[in-house]
Amino acid sequence: MAAILCTGNATLDIVHTVAQYPAEDEELRALAQRVARGGNAANTAAVLAGLGHAVTFLGTLADDPPAGIIRADLKRRGIHLDACPLVTGSASPLSCITVSRERGTRTIVHHRDLPELGAADFRALDPAAFDWFHFEGRNVPALGEMLKTLHRARVDQPISLEMEKDRAGLEALLPLADVVIVPRALVRQRGFATAEAFAAALRPALGDALLVVTWGEAGAFAFLPDGTRHTAPAFPPPRVVDTVGAGDTFIAGLIDALAAGRPVPLALEAACRLAGRKVGQEGFDHLADTV
Ligand code: ADP
Repeated sequence: MAAILCTGNATLDIVHTVAQYPAEDEELRALAQRVARGGNAANTAAVLAGLGHAVTFLGTLADDPPAGIIRADLKRRGIHLDACPLVTGSASPLSCITVSRERGTRTIVHHRDLPELGAADFRALDPAAFDWFHFEGRNVPALGEMLKTLHRARVDQPISLEMEKDRAGLEALLPLADVVIVPRALVRQRGFATAEAFAAALRPALGDALLVVTWGEAGAFAFLPDGTRHTAPAFPPPRVVDTVGAGDTFIAGLIDALAAGRPVPLALEAACRLAGRKVGQEGFDHLADTV
């Protein structure tokens, strides 16, 4: 098992499951509601902890009541939070998520006024304590500093970076990572119809990084610097219940497999298998039980 640092966001999610996605200005009764801790890096941390890794989460935390729920959830999973800076007088990030049972999609409205993690918070950690570093691609100036800190320290543990959204300056940081993970939504937002076309266009910006593109119910692709491509199918559950955090679970599965030394095609398949299991259930508990 590996010691893994997950850096990024922890939120409170209010998840409403509806039969069909509502029209604008419609009032609709939800089939179910749940309040849960979310956030990309925090979700990935939760799944990795469930797989038996020693996980440290690094992200800013507020001191309001939602932060109590966020902390309690991460702690009950055994995730270390000691390095997280406490920001008083700010609200925890909150996501209102509507899950459509008809289409299996999730629509997210996010509010954030919590200051982002600073590079100094990261520098306080001892890089030698970790076998793997995972970063959410946000707050680009500070992220750049963190990645450069690792490179200056000649850290040779693997670094993964999730590029979920286009943020100014993020592309310049990609060669500082070993594995870059991009979801289909960003590929399409950039106007590419296929993962291959996107990968070809992005390759000059990637340096030697492995590019992994997730493609929802169609699985995932990996593009190596030498031009080799691997694909893995999705593993659909009997019924798609909750796609919130599918990508975060996929990333956890990928890190888990690569950290264990599995080759890329097998790691890709293992990640799709785990993410497929996740979309068949609510939340992130017990994903490892059937591995
Ligand atoms: P995100 O959740 O970040 O938007 P994707 O939708 O691409 O990312 O999903 C990530 C991974 O989760 C996919 O590569 C796939 O393995 C799995 N997955 C997502 N949706 C489904 C689904 N409906 N059935 C099976 N697997 C799924």
